[in-house]
Order: sequence, then C-alpha cells, then structure tokens
Amino acid sequence: MVPPLDSSQSGCPTDHGAGSMRARALQPGPGDALVVVDVQNDFLPGGALAVPAGDAVVPVLNRYIGEFERRRLPVFATRDWHPPRHCSFREQGGPWPPHCIAGTRGAEFARDLALPASARLVSKAARAEADAYSGFEGTDLASQMRQLQCTRVFIGGLATDYCVRASALDARAEGFEVVVLEDAIRAVDVHPGDGQRALQDLAMRGARTGARGAPWHWRRCSKPAPTRIAYRPCGSIAVILQVRRAACVRRWTLMAAATFGSC
Ligand SMILES: [Zn+2]
Repeated sequence: MVPPLDSSQSGCPTDHGAGSMRARALQPGPGDALVVVDVQNDFLPGGALAVPAGDAVVPVLNRYIGEFERRRLPVFATRDWHPPRHCSFREQGGPWPPHCIAGTRGAEFARDLALPASARLVSKAARAEADAYSGFEGTDLASQMRQLQCTRVFIGGLATDYCVRASALDARAEGFEVVVLEDAIRAVDVHPGDGQRALQDLAMRGARTGARGAPWHWRRCSKPAPTRIAYRPCGSIAVILQVRRAACVRRWTLMAAATFGSC
C-alpha cells in the first residue's frame, strides 16, 4: 500500500491545467520527469554558498531518483556552471560570493547524490554575462522534456527560494504540470520566510507541493537514511521527528501518526 502524496493545490482560476492536475494522482508514471536542481557542493554546508541543511535533501532525492529509475522515467540534474568571473559574483557587482565555478570541486554534484548514468545533465549560467536561476533559462531542458513526451515535472533540490522556485515557475510557463517535492528542498531564507513565500507563489501559479507518506520511508529504512526528517503532513504543519535508523517500525509508527493524526 502506498498512500497518495500529501498535496496542496492552486486556487488560481486562470490555471488552465488545474483541472487535469486535480484528476491526476501524484504518483510518478508515464509522462513524468524528475528534475534535481543544483545539488552541488558549493550549496551544501561547508560550501561557498551553503544552503542551511542543504545536505538533508540528498537522501530524500536519492529515494525519488530510485523510484524514477525503477519506472524508467527520465531524471534531469541541473547545475550552476559558472566561468571564474561570472556576473553573479560580488567582484563583478553581483549578489553572491564566487560559487560553482565550472570544473571545480564546488561545482560537482554532492558526493552522495545517486544520479544514475542515464541522468541528463543541464548546465546553466555558463556564460560570464548572464545568470540563470532556472534550469530552463538558456538551456534546452524544455525541448528535451518535450522530446521525451514529458508533461509533468517533479522538482526537488536547492534552493527553494531561488533556483527551485525559478525552475518550477518556468516549468509552469512552459506548460508543464509541476510537483514541488516539499521534503526534498531547502531554502536560503535570506529574509525569514522566503522559502514559504516561494511555495505560496508556486501554488498561485498552479504548482502542487507533495511529500511521501510514511510507508514509503518505512520500506526504505533498511538503507542508510537521515536520522532527522522534516515532514510537513499538511503543507503548513512541520513535524520534526528524530529517529534512529534501527528503529524502523517505530519510525513507521511515528510518521504514520504524523501523517494521519495532524491532518
Ligand atoms: Zn550561481
């Protein structure tokens, strides 16, 4: 038994795709693609532009990647791929410290991110004079997805309030249905609440948010897993569970309580 993904939906009356989205289960299937956004060393703790707890997305994304792989669905991975004097760097008048310089360790994907050999890499902002938060901006991501007959994209990665937000908005603008994987994203929160506001913006544009329910975690508990899981069963109530890897049944029980008890 696999419960439906917990979700919230847009109330945007102009969203022409909302009707079909409501009818479509949040289970990956034909026509779906996974986009892993910028899970690179420089965005992880210790990196040049670290997202708080950014590394927490890695094991969660690995589970989504595994699921898409098992279903033979396409997996894309975007990456910042900047030249050394990129316009987004402070020395060039931009807002950020130098980060994700092409070919450096900081630009590599997180060591533990289990991208399959079939993953399609999408490099963005590779020219000095232009930045791109979105994986769709200045890339062929949309056309690749159309060639693969994708109609819906599941998005996770870093960071909620920048590249995940921009990628999800562009995906909607390109006509794709969007599911933001709420358990596989983390925000920078330069201004407190930026991450939540980003999710609200996305909902207004017709993106759905979702996270896996308890039995899915339970099934995977024999593998190495994070001991701390942030879980939002209702999209608004955050339940932080501190569990030990060995306590699989207990974890299942606790998370089931979070899923069904809080909603
Ligand atoms: Zn960048």
